[in-house]
This record gives sequence, structure tokens and C-alpha cells, in this order.
Amino acid sequence: MENIKRTEIVDLLKRTDYGQTVNVKGWVRTRRGNKNVSFIALNDGSTINNVQIVVDIEKFGEEYLKPITTGASLSVNGKLVESMGKGQSVEIQAEEILVYGTADPEKYPLQKKGHTMEYLREIAHLRPRTNTFGAIFRIRHNMAIAIHTYFHEHGYFYFHTPLITGSDCEGAGQMFQVTTKNLYNLKKNDDGKIDYSDDFFGKSVSLTVSGQLEGELAATSLGKIYTFGPTFRAENSNTPRHLAEFWMIEPEIAFYEIEDNMALAQDFIQYCVRWALEKCTDDIQFLCNMFDKELIERLNFVVNNDFKRLTYTEGVEILKEAVKNGHKFEFPVDWGTDLQSEHERYLVEEHFKRPVILTDYPKEIKSFYMKQNDDGKTVRAMDVLFPKIGEIIGGSQREEDYEKLARRAKEMGVPDKDIWWYLDTRRFGTVPHSGFGLGFERLMLFVTGMQNIRDVIPFPRTPNNCEF
Ligand code: ATP
Ligand code: MN
Repeated sequence: MENIKRTEIVDLLKRTDYGQTVNVKGWVRTRRGNKNVSFIALNDGSTINNVQIVVDIEKFGEEYLKPITTGASLSVNGKLVESMGKGQSVEIQAEEILVYGTADPEKYPLQKKGHTMEYLREIAHLRPRTNTFGAIFRIRHNMAIAIHTYFHEHGYFYFHTPLITGSDCEGAGQMFQVTTKNLYNLKKNDDGKIDYSDDFFGKSVSLTVSGQLEGELAATSLGKIYTFGPTFRAENSNTPRHLAEFWMIEPEIAFYEIEDNMALAQDFIQYCVRWALEKCTDDIQFLCNMFDKELIERLNFVVNNDFKRLTYTEGVEILKEAVKNGHKFEFPVDWGTDLQSEHERYLVEEHFKRPVILTDYPKEIKSFYMKQNDDGKTVRAMDVLFPKIGEIIGGSQREEDYEKLARRAKEMGVPDKDIWWYLDTRRFGTVPHSGFGLGFERLMLFVTGMQNIRDVIPFPRTPNNCEF
């Protein structure tokens, strides 16, 4: 086979130099035709669009073309010609075809017919070859680039916080332990507790649930930082919005108060969504056509409208009013309890019909490090609530007063010995500062219109599921 430099399909479809001999490589999506001519739709992952290869059967022989079935991988040399078919600008008249690998039609799990999302999760190793998952993972890449670009252009430093940690940031017991100990022969001390002194780190450690505490160390020295990395939570909640391993973006900014934090959250999300609309047009259009007719409308709406800001207390009043007027929620609404996804979605989808930022939550349901309000009851927390998703961002202004912070940590059972280094930021040159955490896959759910968080990460980790 003649050696011609490969053109990726995304570039090839833009070319107009008809008559040139070109090379493309990729996987067969479909092959159809009649006894004289065969049409191969070839895709190489660079775009949702296929290139059509036109094959003169007599030239190659029936036998030679037999292994070219859905899923087979090919290298094709041929002439670039203007396409007569609708919806495509160019096609290739095949001159030479090399079959790299066949895909037995009896066994290859991705035949033409539409598969359910559940089935595709079972073959997560092959699902990137479908149009849908190709689109989702190209969008995922673009969102990651948008995030880095936004922060870089705004003067933030990308700061790497550890994944293995000796502290439990949230004070909650939903962490994955990391150990090299022999679990079949655990050494216990006299009061029956596991002795970690001979474990790898000489103490009990876990996978991080958030990089925030270390992020604050960086913000109170570098000024503006963000993290973007994997996060682990062993919460046994089998919902369409929770993963055991997910990616989180956590900006942290010195001298920012809660209002600055809210403005940042809105500007940042709008930037990312605008980026998706501009740079992933074909993929988003495809998802819009196939799954969610209102997707593009919803994305445009979020880009063009301010998020509604109100306090938790005001939010609860609206929800109680709704209950009074006959709206049925599964969970009760009471000042002091955490809002459920159904409550968040009511505020966003039914009441305000736009994204909402709720602030000033009861201190009992929030973390020890949030800045305490003068009312003694609430803290300067903020959650950003989105249509179809509920909470997409959780953040706060941080308590910068050493005494108040230390007292609250003690009240909430966070031991000094775990956070002495964190408390030091308040002992030496403390400043007001704020930050938040955005779940990357929650953003992906919004941008793609997918229903289940398992379908916006390549290999989801959830309770009882760690295949691939
Ligand atoms: P939720 O109430 O939805 O469980 P949370 O309040 O526990 O979330 P935070 O601790 O505030 O979450 O984390 C910040 C952000 O990380 C959330 O706003 C959300 O976007 C994302 N997030 C949290 N937990 C998960 C998870 N298990 N899987 C995917 N994303 C998550
Ligand atoms: Mn939260």
C-alpha cells in the first residue's frame, strides 16, 4: 500500500482540493450499498462526522471486502471528491484499502441498532466508539481545557493538592482508607483499636474528599489558586448525581468575600458553557437532536441570565409556601435541615426558572471552616443550584478569625492535631478569603444534557462497581 500522510477526518471534511490522493484511518461505522458499489462510513474519533468511502466492488473483489464490517479498522488511500450525497461535503473514492483488524459481526457488541445507556455502561471499554460517547468525551476534554484557560487567563495558579491525606476536611466519615496492612492479621492495641503505628505512613490515612484545606494554604500565599483533580467519597448513595471517584475544581482566593465568590461562580460557569457552545457545536447539536431537544436553549439561557441570589432562610420560606399551596415533596421542609435535590430543583425550575445561589445556611449542616454570621445561627455558605441537577457548586467565605475557627472545630469534633497546620494560616497574617468546589461531572451533566453521572465519566466508580 502506498505510503500517504494521514489526514484526520475532522480536517479532511474541511478540504476542497478535490482530486488529491489522501489517506484516512479509522473504524467502520456502517457499510451498505449494492452489488456494484459499497459505501463505508468511517470514523476516527476526531469528530462526530464520518467520511464516506466509495468502493467499486469490481475493483477490489467481493472476497476482499467481506471483512469490512461494523467495527473493523481500516487504512484507506483514495481520491478526494466532492460529494453528491446530502449532508456531506467530500467523500473518498477508494484506491487501496488495508484492513488492520476485523470485528466479527457475530461477536462485536456495537452493531448499528440503538443500545440503552445501561447496556453501554456494561461495555464501557467499547462505548467511546459510539457517536454518543465520542461526543461526550470530546466535550469532556474541551471543558477541562476551558477550566484551565479561564483560571490561567484570570491570573490563578494551578495548585496540586495531595490525594492521600491524614485529615478529613469535611469531618464526615465517608472516606476510603489507604493502607498496606495485612487485613487478615490486624494488630490491635489494648483497647481493641487498630494500631496503625506500623502502617505505611505510621498513622491512619485516606483518599482525599476535597483539596480545600491545602488550597487555602496556597491562596493565603499565592493569592489566587485553583485545584482540578480526582476526589473520592465513599458515600453509599446510589443516585444519578453521585460517584465514588469524581473530579473537582476548587478555586480559593485571598481577600475575596462571599459576594466576590458568587460573582466568580457565575462568571466561571458561564464562561465554560459558552466555550462548549462555541467549540463543541457539532457534538452538542448531536446530543440535542438525539436526547434532549431543549439542551441548546438551556445552555444559552444560563449564559445570558444572572443567577438569582437569596438566603437559605428565604428559600425555605418559598418552599413552605409551595407546600401550603399544595405542592407535594417527598421530604419535609424545615429551617435547619439540608435541602433535598427535589427542593433545590423546585426553586430553580419552578419558582425562579433560572440558576439560584443560596447563601447563609444554618451552621449545623455546614462545615467547621465556614465564616460565622453575627446572628450566631448561620454561616457564609453558598450553594449554586442548577436546573435538572440541583447542587452544582458548594462553597463559602472561610472563617478567618483564629478563636472562632478553633472553637467551631472543637465543637464539631475536628481534632487540633489533624488541622494544626490549617489553623496556622489564621495565627499568622490571616486574611478574609473564599472559595468553592465545582463537581466536574455535574458540570458535564449540565452541558451534555445526560441524565446519569455514570455516562459523563469514562469509567464510573459507584457502589459495587469497579470494572475496567
Ligand atoms: P451533595 O449534597 O450533592 O451530595 P455535597 O454538598 O456533599 O454534594 P460538596 O462537599 O459541597 O458536595 O462538594 C462540592 C461539589 O462537588 C458539589 O457541589 C458537587 O458538584 C460535587 N460533588 C460532591 N459529591 C459528589 C459526588 N459524590 N459525585 C460527584 N460530584 C460530587
Ligand atoms: Mn455542598
